[in-house]
Amino acid sequence: MLIDTHVHLDSFPDCEIPLILDRAHSVGVGFVICAGTTVESSARAVDLSRRFNSFFAGVGVHPMDIVKPLTGEDYMELRNLAIKEEKVVVMSEIGLDYMEGMPDRAWQFPAFREQINIARELDLPIIFHSRGAHQDCFRVLKEEKGYEVGGVMHYFQGTIKEAKEIIDLGFYISIARPIFRLPHLQEVVSKIPIANIVIETDSAPQPFKKNRDNWTEPHYLRSITKKIAELKDMDEASVETALFHNTRQLLSHRWGILNKYVPDL
Ligand SMILES: [Zn+2]
Repeated sequence: MLIDTHVHLDSFPDCEIPLILDRAHSVGVGFVICAGTTVESSARAVDLSRRFNSFFAGVGVHPMDIVKPLTGEDYMELRNLAIKEEKVVVMSEIGLDYMEGMPDRAWQFPAFREQINIARELDLPIIFHSRGAHQDCFRVLKEEKGYEVGGVMHYFQGTIKEAKEIIDLGFYISIARPIFRLPHLQEVVSKIPIANIVIETDSAPQPFKKNRDNWTEPHYLRSITKKIAELKDMDEASVETALFHNTRQLLSHRWGILNKYVPDL
């Protein structure tokens, strides 16, 4: 079984979601974890998780979406969503983004810190986003003791040194479709132990791609798994087993709940 640890299926219209999940199931994807990007999108991810067995949710506010400072009420809503719904299994998507034009860092930092603290309070693994901000993300995760709950550096595209640094802090690196086009990432995957890797698609609507069939969906996990097997000179079944085991470790506290909704875990 393959598990998509990071998608944004909440951004698709309702009618598309069962079709996307069917296409995923047909290649062996057992379930997906949908990351919230705002309080509203987190609430929608939670709502969808109630409607589809193989759909689980994360709650969080994405650094790109911090268009004004988060308030105590925002944090309370995130906390309540996670407390009320057992299918919330991670704090996601939080982090720092230093790309030009992104929200004020003076707003991003407290949001990242506070959401790490909510994750620790609720014992939820942290799925974090970092763009041009790796060292600051690692520092904040250390200062706020994010390693106590661990988690995933999502959509990893960093160096081997950065991979080792975050793995040492107790996090997995998550590999997505950039594995097909970035030679340095292929080298990272060939050298980092399979025990430290999980996979994802970060699937969201991609209207800039004219052919709908080329939009990234969870079913692409199959080709990502094949690519990892090729790079590590392993057979695909062993890679799939290892990735499954890693995700099980990541979500170990919630595995009983996952098992209620997904048979054969
Ligand atoms: Zn994402």
